[in-house]
Amino acid sequence: MTSPAPLLQTVAEPPAAPLAAAKPSLAGRTRAGIAAALGEIGVPLKEQRMRTGQIWNWVYHHGVRDFAEIRNVGKDLKSALEERFTLDRPQVTAAQVSQDGTRKWLLRMPSTGPRDKGAEIECVYIPETDRGTLCVSSQVGCTLTCTFCHTGTQRLVRNLTSEEIVLQLMAARDQLGDFPGRERPTDGFLPADGSRFVSNIVFMGMGEPLYNLDAVADAIDTLADGDGLSLGRRRITVSTSGVVPDIAPLGARTNAMLAISLHAVRDDLRNELVPLNRKYPIAALLDACRSYPGLSNARRITFEYVMLKGVNDTDADARELVRLLKGIPAKINLIPFNPWPGTRYSCSDWDRIERFSDIVFRAGYASPVRTPRGRDILAACGQLKSETEKLGARARMLLDEADAAMAGQSGQTVAH
Ligand code: SAH
Ligand code: SF4
Repeated sequence: MTSPAPLLQTVAEPPAAPLAAAKPSLAGRTRAGIAAALGEIGVPLKEQRMRTGQIWNWVYHHGVRDFAEIRNVGKDLKSALEERFTLDRPQVTAAQVSQDGTRKWLLRMPSTGPRDKGAEIECVYIPETDRGTLCVSSQVGCTLTCTFCHTGTQRLVRNLTSEEIVLQLMAARDQLGDFPGRERPTDGFLPADGSRFVSNIVFMGMGEPLYNLDAVADAIDTLADGDGLSLGRRRITVSTSGVVPDIAPLGARTNAMLAISLHAVRDDLRNELVPLNRKYPIAALLDACRSYPGLSNARRITFEYVMLKGVNDTDADARELVRLLKGIPAKINLIPFNPWPGTRYSCSDWDRIERFSDIVFRAGYASPVRTPRGRDILAACGQLKSETEKLGARARMLLDEADAAMAGQSGQTVAH
């Protein structure tokens, strides 16, 4: 890495003719964003705060999808809002439920302007008995190139807006009937504890959240707002590959839980697996962890460690991991590697993972091995969208074939 600021491109090619300008959605916006919308339709400044609070509660607590459903706001204001804005959600273009209850949705975001078709991302929901975790993305693709990660192989990258991040939760709550009074799905396993189906958020989908910190911080403010979506900040975890200078600002701005994708205990190996390590080596990364705001035994840092066969999975690696983390309130998450077509790695054998986990456990760490979830629908966090990409490649191949056929035909026409 030569620069921490990634070069961002706009997603995909722009459509040949600009799409009709859609009305923007207020769903996903911050309070300031909603107040600005009210200003645009002529609501006086002194009224904006109160009106924002009313709309906020209906949009985020009740999950209304239509301005008409808002009860404590006058008709005139509702029709003025209706004329200029929507409460549109991402379009769910595909949905799958795994045998184990894991759900995967392919979401097409509302267009952000005349030339934007709307970003397409995947979102994965993982239910457990006492919680439901939504794995969200912070970027389309990723500019980093961790060698075991499929997202890192994608060429097109752009930051998601804070609205697009929040909309992933709103879409999930729509799909799960997880707003008051909504019908809940009857298929598939769901948490039974009676609270909300989505109780936790992990930023472990596509992208490096700390390369999009402004949007991530705004999104967390909206997700954690007690009058709305109401997720506790301790139930929001941001995972980073180790963008050292942005770790303290993340804590100060969001108070979110931190997860570090460590994956190796020596710089030479981590340089290879997580190339960002050349810029921010392990010692600097762990220093940043030691001073993470709010760190305590009740607020531990999660260290993620992907188990790669014959690469990082020896007993000596496990012992070194324990030594490195000494003094840092930590949890260790061992992640079985999730293979993807064309990868050079494979997952460590199960007894190797158990040995590794044993050493970590005996050193005093609970070391849950993250059970592979939703394997039948290719849904693991950290490997989102791979199936779609394959579809994309197939579609591209068909398009190329069609182009070639067209070129052949026109060639014939000219020859005749
Ligand atoms: N960019 C951030 C967050 C997204 S990746 C980060 O790197 O932390 C979320 C987690 O999934 C990371 O720990 C990542 O290393 C892991 N991951 C990526 N590809 C994986 C794969 N094929 N199998 C298992 N875990 C993977
Ligand atoms: Fe990006 Fe995280 Fe994948 Fe690395 S592991 S390429 S940082 S998404």
